[in-house]
Amino acid sequence: MDLQGKVVLVTGSSRGIGLAIAQAFARQGCQLVLNSRHPIASDVIATVAQNGATCRDFPADVTDEAAVKELIQQIVTTMGHLDIVVNNAGITKDGLLNRMSEADFQVVLQTNLVGTFNVIRQAVRPMYKQRAGCFINLASVVGLTGNIGQANYAASKAGIIGLTKSVAKEVALRNLRCNAIAPGMIETQMTQALNAKKQEEIVHQVPLKRFGQIDEIAQTAIFLAQNDYITGQTITVDGGLTMQ
Ligand code: NDP
Repeated sequence: MDLQGKVVLVTGSSRGIGLAIAQAFARQGCQLVLNSRHPIASDVIATVAQNGATCRDFPADVTDEAAVKELIQQIVTTMGHLDIVVNNAGITKDGLLNRMSEADFQVVLQTNLVGTFNVIRQAVRPMYKQRAGCFINLASVVGLTGNIGQANYAASKAGIIGLTKSVAKEVALRNLRCNAIAPGMIETQMTQALNAKKQEEIVHQVPLKRFGQIDEIAQTAIFLAQNDYITGQTITVDGGLTMQ
């Protein structure tokens, strides 16, 4: 896919991986729609809108089906089309099983998995009409391997991998694609929340002996958007942490 002029929605793009992905698509000449639950600061929007790229911010909570419907309608009305959707919004609420409440399990599933479903379900309608477009969903290596203290998060990310394959099969006849990225440990606010000892332990397990950078995930998103013959895949970007 030639990315020039394409309209790209990145959910959860106020910071971290989502913001880096939005900046990378903007550098390719795309028009960006940023999103998070809250309005995004103008100085953050300016980092995406460099070099003349169009960049708008449409706040919406991806767990709210009506808000997501409105978000997609707003994009199609104001920008004319929607070509690429990056489902990046995600949260963690870690805890060992005996301390994890049902509410903590549900909210992570609702945000990460149901949120991704809500956005795909609404965005697929205008994309069907265009007979072109792609979805890129942020999974995680823990969706492949599981992780102590992350039953909710791992279940949500494993669900995203299954959702990605099902959507890819269902939309392929209309020339749409759906892929996932499974990052390992990437340096963001989410992972900075881990204590220094835990961070050290993780780095020790990574063959490349470092955390990944947000731009390394963004590069993968660009690759998946550009390559028209990849669909239903989950690309692991984890410094060799999980080798299958
Ligand atoms: P951050 O916590 O830094 O950013 C999360 C983003 O999601 C923010 O913009 C946040 O904004 C937004 N968000 C959260 N809940 C919602 C919601 N209900 N609706 C809309 N937006 C929401 O996360 P990262 O950048 O670290 O991670 C991004 C994605 O990558 C996530 O899906 C994460 O699971 C995945 N990932 C990250 C890894 C890492 O090492 N960092 C590893 C593997 C996967 P706001 O709070 O204002 O709504």
